[in-house]
Amino acid sequence: MEIKLAKTAGFCMGVRRAVDAVLEVVQHEMGRRIYTYGPLIHNPQTIELLKNRGITAISRIEDIPDKHQSVLIIRAHGIAPDERKKIKESGVKIIDATCPKVSYVQAIIKKHTAMDYTVIIAGDREHPEVDGLWGYTEGRGIIVSTLTDADKLPAMEKVCIVAQTTQDTDHYAHIVQKIQEKNQQAVVFNTICSSTEKRQEEIITLAAEMDALFVVGGKNSANTCRLADLSRKQNTPTFHIETAEEIKNIDLTPYKSIGVSAGASTPNWIIDQVMDNLAERHSSPHQKVGFLLNLWLWMVKTDFYSALGAGCLALTGMLLQKIPVHISSIAIASLFVYAMHVLNRLAGSKQSGMIGSFREKSYLRFKRYYHLAAIVSLMIALVLSLANSMLSFLFLFFISLAGGLYNMKILPGGLRFQRLKDIPGSKNIFIAAAWGMVTAVLPALNNSQHASAGMAIAFIFTFALVFIRSAMSDIMDIQSDKLLGRETIPVMIGKKKTQVLLKIIVLLLLVILLISAPAGWSSTLSIFLVLCLLYIWICFRLCDRRAGLSGGVIEGLLETSYIITGFAVFCWFVLS
Ligand code: SF4
Repeated sequence: MEIKLAKTAGFCMGVRRAVDAVLEVVQHEMGRRIYTYGPLIHNPQTIELLKNRGITAISRIEDIPDKHQSVLIIRAHGIAPDERKKIKESGVKIIDATCPKVSYVQAIIKKHTAMDYTVIIAGDREHPEVDGLWGYTEGRGIIVSTLTDADKLPAMEKVCIVAQTTQDTDHYAHIVQKIQEKNQQAVVFNTICSSTEKRQEEIITLAAEMDALFVVGGKNSANTCRLADLSRKQNTPTFHIETAEEIKNIDLTPYKSIGVSAGASTPNWIIDQVMDNLAERHSSPHQKVGFLLNLWLWMVKTDFYSALGAGCLALTGMLLQKIPVHISSIAIASLFVYAMHVLNRLAGSKQSGMIGSFREKSYLRFKRYYHLAAIVSLMIALVLSLANSMLSFLFLFFISLAGGLYNMKILPGGLRFQRLKDIPGSKNIFIAAAWGMVTAVLPALNNSQHASAGMAIAFIFTFALVFIRSAMSDIMDIQSDKLLGRETIPVMIGKKKTQVLLKIIVLLLLVILLISAPAGWSSTLSIFLVLCLLYIWICFRLCDRRAGLSGGVIEGLLETSYIITGFAVFCWFVLS
């Protein structure tokens, strides 16, 4: 079964801007109560998450009890000028997140109303955006939703026509045509936003290409409903779903290809869950390929793939340092990484409910077994390190302790940073450092080696690789991380700057790998490890939401950078 995700699926610029504005307020307006004027977006799951972060949706200004201690956010739809005046006078602090494209329509209406035009708004009467737009007509505007409405209009002297930004392009064209039959001089503005137009064009193309279409988004979201209608109009079986859960009740057997699109207010983590759910039910025409793909995804999902990657990096670390390869060092690295990943995921799941994670289902279902497997793995790793030396054991014990403390509250309540996890950007650095310790430093201790240039190169290599992988994964999760209040590096400095940072790290690592062997700091393996950097460079392009891959596949591709080190070792061994 082929699964294709629309490039335009998910938050539009206006919605992203409004959500960012709200989350910014949460960060900087400590002590004030935060409200949104109406639900921020038409997506019940996101509204629930915002509620958990203390953001309440109100429908009247009177609903805010302590106005001088509150912040009110005006959502992307905008509001009428009278309402804005009333809010201002109430004393509440306003943050205006009206989408600039909606503001543009408001400005057109205001200008033409002042010039005595009758403004006709083509849109849904009940929609808050239309309600706000109508407010700019000083009570003289007309809302037209259907062709019948348009047909009933009389001939008028000065007419200006605008559309709700999420109107169906064809429908608007027909309405304009109808109005112009009696009002040839009408001034027409195409105010349908380009994001809506592109989304509609893409869904029509997708519906023609695929056997069935899933449109993801709130059942109360007008633009999502419109997308589903457009797809149905192409005679393509269409399923409008709000969550991935709804897929289990749908028989997918008749369809060889499935397209997925989503409304402008659907967050990425819900789209990811839908993609993962569909990928799980994916059946390849080639049985063996299907089996291998599912096995690979299962390993990624259960964190066995990370453990395998840690083993490859430990092997690489020993060879870079030119120290004897100990199987126990590889096993310790794999077991430690497995245990830490599982324990931290389980601890983190309490706060986040693992939203958006493709691991969610399996981790929550087999929680007990995961716990047990992680603890047993950690025990075995500690016993193996004790068998090597007391120093190795103590070293592993302390980094395990630090790993365990990462999610725990160690400072009293009331402080901003109670856990190591609360330190902004700490996740990427702590994870990378822990991997560097067990794959570069611990194998050296197991061999009774002291600090060396080789150890530094091995540590830097693992640290950089793990840092890049975790930051890339955070780039993909930036939306859900913002909603959950996680201060990852992409959340702090933005997607673009993070991408530049990662590219700089790759280039620096390239220089280090190329000079470390000739300088005698490491073995010639370092030259072969350039393969990993080439792969990561490909991942920069591949692991993008627009590539339409499911979350599991993207994580798997990112973690494959560790496995490539094993492949580089193999090439080095064969060629040298
Ligand atoms: S659909 Fe267009 S106009 Fe509406 S909020 Fe999004 S970007 Fe703005």
